[in-house]
Amino acid sequence: MRLVLMGPPGAGKGTQAVGIAAALGIPHISTGDIFRANVSQGTALGIEAKRYMDAGEYVPDGVTNAMVRDRISHDDARPGFLLDGYPRTIEQVAELDSMLASDGYKLTKALELTVNVDEVVSRLVRRAAEQGRADDNENVIRRRLEVYFAQTAPLTALYAQRGILQQIDGMGTVDEVGLRIMAALA
Ligand code: AMP
Repeated sequence: MRLVLMGPPGAGKGTQAVGIAAALGIPHISTGDIFRANVSQGTALGIEAKRYMDAGEYVPDGVTNAMVRDRISHDDARPGFLLDGYPRTIEQVAELDSMLASDGYKLTKALELTVNVDEVVSRLVRRAAEQGRADDNENVIRRRLEVYFAQTAPLTALYAQRGILQQIDGMGTVDEVGLRIMAALA
């Protein structure tokens, strides 16, 4: 299973991704998590990424693509993986296709969590209070949603054309949404 999980910030991708990846026995690869780990370790990658993250903008494709290429080349990702928060731009879609094609693989499915935007904003504001994320103040939240709807949401049409897009209602409890996702994968 080579899966991508899409959906706006606050849709619950991270939470769901952990559960799906565990159930399927594949690694959960979150570009946001990898960037945050680099930020907290103060690596060169983290210092570069932080400027964009704090403003709610996307980290440049070159940086992000190289990081994903490296991560999915690890042994644990051989049987498959669940990408969370990647691809987010058309260039990343093309790059992921080429990473997979070079090993003779294709994406199995693209899962898109659909949500009510007002609900998402309140989820993000709540998470900001709980986790103290620098990219979760209200202006940045608004910017992240804008960037998502402008640059990432349209990409689902590409996966729909290929017949691998599966849209899942992301509203409801963590368990309800998790069951819908597992049903979509069955
Ligand atoms: P996330 O936790 O997935 O919402 O990601 C947090 C932040 O990391 C995003 O707002 C971006 O600044 C950056 N980021 C994560 N994934 C990507 C990606 N695929 N392309 C560009 N930037 C990304």
